[in-house]
Amino acid sequence: MKTSTYTQPDYYNIDDLLSEEHKLIRQSVQAFMNKEVKPIIEDYAQRSAFPEHLVKPFGALGIYGPTTPVEYGGGGLDYISYGIMMQEVERVDSGMRSMASVQGSLVMFPIFKYGSEEQKNAYLPKLASGELLGCFGLTEPDHGSNPAGMTTTLKDMGDHYLLNGAKMWITNSPKADIAVVWAKDEEGRIKGVIVERGMEGFTTPEIHNKWSLRASITGELVFDNVKIPKKNVLPKADGLSGPLKCLDSARYGIAWGALGAAMECYDIAKNYAMERIQFGKPIASFQLTQKKLAEMLTEITKAQLLVWRLGMLKNEGKASTGQVSMAKRNNVDMALKVAREARQILGGMGITGEYPIMRHMMNLESVVTYEGTHDIHLLITGHDITGINAFK
Ligand SMILES: Cc1cc2nc3c(=O)[nH]c(=O)nc-3n(C[C@H](O)[C@H](O)[C@H](O)COP(=O)(O)OP(=O)(O)OC[C@H]3O[C@@H](n4cnc5c(N)ncnc54)[C@H](O)[C@@H]3O)c2cc1C
Repeated sequence: MKTSTYTQPDYYNIDDLLSEEHKLIRQSVQAFMNKEVKPIIEDYAQRSAFPEHLVKPFGALGIYGPTTPVEYGGGGLDYISYGIMMQEVERVDSGMRSMASVQGSLVMFPIFKYGSEEQKNAYLPKLASGELLGCFGLTEPDHGSNPAGMTTTLKDMGDHYLLNGAKMWITNSPKADIAVVWAKDEEGRIKGVIVERGMEGFTTPEIHNKWSLRASITGELVFDNVKIPKKNVLPKADGLSGPLKCLDSARYGIAWGALGAAMECYDIAKNYAMERIQFGKPIASFQLTQKKLAEMLTEITKAQLLVWRLGMLKNEGKASTGQVSMAKRNNVDMALKVAREARQILGGMGITGEYPIMRHMMNLESVVTYEGTHDIHLLITGHDITGINAFK
């Protein structure tokens, strides 16, 4: 794979809005990703293999739960810092960002927000360091966009619960040490439970043959009369708002992450267009190529401003679900379009593993679907505008 001479696009001097700490965080994550991940990721993706050896180094770098308080092993940082980290990880690979997002936003976040003090102390520091890998089980084979319809059940047996059912499309599941799982109790209320690898009746078969997120491992979670100790139930989670709040946090990271993938594709396409000669001139001198590059940079710039403002709102505790949803939808769609245009600019070279563009494009096909599909996020915005729910 070609070594990149990446220059971050910053047409509107958005760097001026960042603190020195933000810039240092970006520099250190970028340096780590360039040294440890960039040189190997294409090979892992081509082989559809998960670079498990990176789980702990990501922890050492503070990638998981950067906004979690320091006392629980987190970074105690603000939301812009978190966003920048996700941007730099996904600039290299969406699969690696998926692994990190799940660990931080979908496993650490619910334990921090809904867990008991005992649960927080037992799991958060080990998740933050990467000593434990976690996964998040919401989606089921028959319930994706409509998680409220879930059929996984939690039955009170007096001194413990029994968990039965199955979850589908679960990032990290085949390698996860613990799973935060959402299931319905006998009253039909959605509860969160921590399931540990090794519990009898709990299996995590891998899903094979993905054309997307090939360096991220995905699987099922199967529960066959799994005995869950009462201490493993998240005491403060009650109802669908529990998992949905976790998704808010992860979707925020995705909005930044997808931007990173778009920036990388744009930068490569721009450099390639300047160097590639056809008809005796660089292809960058043709108006049609300039149109592509100009539109890419315009959309990247708008997406940068969107996530920066959203991060500030999150820092103030004012970001709504609708605002997060709009940013996730816009930025992933933007990144997918940028990746497709970049691939065209590279011509035949665009389809090879010499450049990461095709990998980004294929990865983003999952990102546009998971954590709420493109259309579902549109309906969330529509609901916000009209007050009318068009989901059903
Ligand atoms: C690689 C990958 C990793 C994932 N990781 C996780 C994970 O870690 N944990 C987890 O819980 N889940 C995970 N998911 C699941 C993901 O969140 C779901 O795939 C997603 O929510 C969509 O559900 P579905 O695939 O069942 O599609 P469906 O819900 O069946 O949707 C199919 C199509 O119908 C459309 N549709 C559905 N309902 C409506 C409606 N009311 N109006 C208009 N259109 C509608 C959708 O927009 C979509 O285009 C992952 C998925 C993938 C692909």
